[in-house]
Amino acid sequence: RRVVVTPSLLRLTDIFLAVKSTGRFHGTRLSLLLETWISKTKEHTFIFTDTEDEDINSRGYNLIVTDCPSDHSHQALSCKMSAEYDHFMASDKKWLCHVDDDNYVNPGALLSLLSAFPQDGDVYVGKPSLDHPIKAHELLEGNKTKEVQFWFATGGAGFCLSRRLAEKMAPWASGPRFEQTSAVIRLPDDCTVGFIVERRLGISMVHSSVFHSHLENLLLLTPSNIPLQVRYTHTHTAIYLYRSDTHTQQYTSTGQIHTHPAIYLYRSDTHTPSNIPLQ
Ligand code: UDP
Ligand code: MN
Repeated sequence: RRVVVTPSLLRLTDIFLAVKSTGRFHGTRLSLLLETWISKTKEHTFIFTDTEDEDINSRGYNLIVTDCPSDHSHQALSCKMSAEYDHFMASDKKWLCHVDDDNYVNPGALLSLLSAFPQDGDVYVGKPSLDHPIKAHELLEGNKTKEVQFWFATGGAGFCLSRRLAEKMAPWASGPRFEQTSAVIRLPDDCTVGFIVERRLGISMVHSSVFHSHLENLLLLTPSNIPLQVRYTHTHTAIYLYRSDTHTQQYTSTGQIHTHPAIYLYRSDTHTPSNIPLQ
């Protein structure tokens, strides 16, 4: 008798999608995501915010209201990242992926990306924020400091951590420790993740061009073979949808349905595009 052992395949629902938001963006940024990509990943998407929202709750989304301050300080942002980490650790999911509420996620592309890694490996994957490692001053005992260098993935473009790596991060990331570690280098949440992985654990970040942030020049995007049907029917502030293959954009203000391949969504109200030819 022959026994065939097939490795268990990663499913989309194995990915813990953590979205960072804040009360004043619920009606603007978040509502758009709920109607687009989160509608397809509802069960395993968790929205970390600072303000209760009955409307979002009643629609069955996983809204996690943290005690974090509702401002843009390092402390407030690290507080939310810490909550994302702790909730992921308490879940049965295999990957933690963090995104901001102005990111568009292509679930299929994300699943392909993560499926290609060894599922029991130590993986930290994202888009490097800079083209060189960041230099930070680690605070030591007695008010001394030490210069440290490490790569980190831009939180605003999204990044992912495998469960095995996340478990190893616990001494610097669980409970109050994430915010303590952030204070040691006096840098925000995404830098802190890079510091823990690269400096505390000695594991290198995997650089990926699959992630996109609003900071990049979209004309530099390379052609992509990742199609996505974006359907957008909500009456809303204008958004821009960029086709990654042609870099053309579709502009919408009310009720139009877009079925163009796109992997990138760019909000005109929160971030002004630069160097993009208007058509
Ligand atoms: N954010 C937050 N509290 C704030 C402001 C922003 O939690 O007071 C979140 C916001 O919802 C988003 C992320 O932080 O997920 C980044 O915010 P934004 O895009 O406005 O700024 P960026 O850092 O990208 O320029
Ligand atoms: Mn942003």
